[in-house]
Amino acid sequence: MELVELLRDARAVVGFTGAGVSTESGIPDFRSPGGVWTRYDPRNFEFDRYVTDPEVRALSWEMRTEFFAEPWAPNRAHLAFARLEDAGRCLGVVTQNIDGLHQDAGSRTVVELHGTARRVMCIGHRPEYGTPAGCGWDAPHTWAFERLDAGEADPHCPRCEGLVKSSTVSFGQQLFPGVVDAASDLVRRADVLVVVGSSLQVYPAAALPMDAIDAGARLVIVNDEPTPFDGVADLVVRGRAGEVLGPVVDALLG
Ligand code: NAD
Repeated sequence: MELVELLRDARAVVGFTGAGVSTESGIPDFRSPGGVWTRYDPRNFEFDRYVTDPEVRALSWEMRTEFFAEPWAPNRAHLAFARLEDAGRCLGVVTQNIDGLHQDAGSRTVVELHGTARRVMCIGHRPEYGTPAGCGWDAPHTWAFERLDAGEADPHCPRCEGLVKSSTVSFGQQLFPGVVDAASDLVRRADVLVVVGSSLQVYPAAALPMDAIDAGARLVIVNDEPTPFDGVADLVVRGRAGEVLGPVVDALLG
């Protein structure tokens, strides 16, 4: 297969993944019908509304509780990057996802552009301009679920009484400091950037393929529908992430 040949001599693969890498694990992307994400009004994920409206915060915790009620597990696409990293042929993964499945698969270097649902953090009392301004306290997401189970609808920071939010990036929220630079640094060190399951429509994430190309990397896109970057890719594989990458890594590593 063409992708096996392209990756055979690669020693510094970097993955760049979107929601489509996790759909084979059962987590819907934004457009899949019926998923947790599509049953909640996107306006309720706006940072400013979270800050100003306790009902929005309660709804948000309800959504998170529902999300974590499922025992999500990594699929062959997540495992592919972890196996390549173990074999010394992958530098790591940049992901737009918040589900933590790359780490569950065993990837050690993971840049999470949009944060993680696996932790919660203090965002301060009245953060402005989409910028969390907390005291620095954070905790595993289970901390919040314990507070909710204890009857608190809107848990507050145990250190400074500020608002507590999932450590994810909501609509209208600034990305966490340093994360875009970390992502750009990683993709610029790639000899092959493998983009998987991203519509490549959300900036600044969608700028990363050009960063990699500018630095001399080859670009591979694995997606089940066209993306705006197909024309500049060295190889486009139209298919499902795990179904494509599982056999490719089997062929490379045996
Ligand atoms: P997107 O929904 O815009 O694009 C996903 C792309 O993957 C689409 O082109 C879709 O056709 C394709 N796809 C779906 N399943 C696939 C599969 N099995 N194999 C190959 N391709 C597949 O997602 P995005 O580009 O990541 O951007 C949306 C935002 O949604 C992200 O910022 C992310 O933070 C967030 N999100 C995250 C999760 C998660 O953490 N698992 C889930 C939903 C949304």
